[in-house]
Amino acid sequence: MKVQEAKYVMSNSDYEKCPEPTLPEYAFIGRSNVGKSSLINMLTGKKALAKTSQQPGKTQMINHFIIDDTWYLVDLPGYGYAKVSKVERDKWEKMIHDYLHYRENLICTFVLVDVRHSAMAVDLEFMAALGEAGIPFEIIFTKADKLKPGQVANQVEAYKRKMGEIWEELPEMYVTSAEKNEGREPVLAAIETYNQS
Ligand code: GDP
Repeated sequence: MKVQEAKYVMSNSDYEKCPEPTLPEYAFIGRSNVGKSSLINMLTGKKALAKTSQQPGKTQMINHFIIDDTWYLVDLPGYGYAKVSKVERDKWEKMIHDYLHYRENLICTFVLVDVRHSAMAVDLEFMAALGEAGIPFEIIFTKADKLKPGQVANQVEAYKRKMGEIWEELPEMYVTSAEKNEGREPVLAAIETYNQS
């Protein structure tokens, strides 16, 4: 799928104030610094799209972008940032929980994982919560250019093994590098397939 046009729509801390849920929607989330902004910019072919909504004070928001007037891409605030206070973390949890549970046009959540790290509890727990709530998700490995291809394959295999300890059926997984502009098409193809079904 080609992305022709990607536009910033709005930032919100309340799922009820998000755009009318009339188009299919896909959310992106992960630990802070995982490469989410870079991935969103790569997927949309816009260098600074994700930054638009990430000025100071706006980072803990649900950020909506509209793609080719046919689907919403949502940049969710990251988790696992050490410097966040308990109050901020609680706010984040409620905002994300409500968005993920009640946003009726949300088709799939893409959970981003840095391919260099072995499976982290914070990611596994987040995915376990999604699974328990029946919220569909897929995994996008980021920063693949930081490893040799063989190492990437090993990391993905190790991740699958780890998830296999808990999950009967593994989610779809994609390997990407925003730096090298790689892995874009399979993610967009998945979204296109969802959009058509
Ligand atoms: P976010 O906090 O999850 O939105 O992460 P960013 O997209 O801002 O990226 C965090 C850091 O990782 C930045 O220094 C990026 O340049 C770097 N980064 C992101 N994606 C890649 C990638 O695919 N390859 C490499 N080598 N670095 C990346």
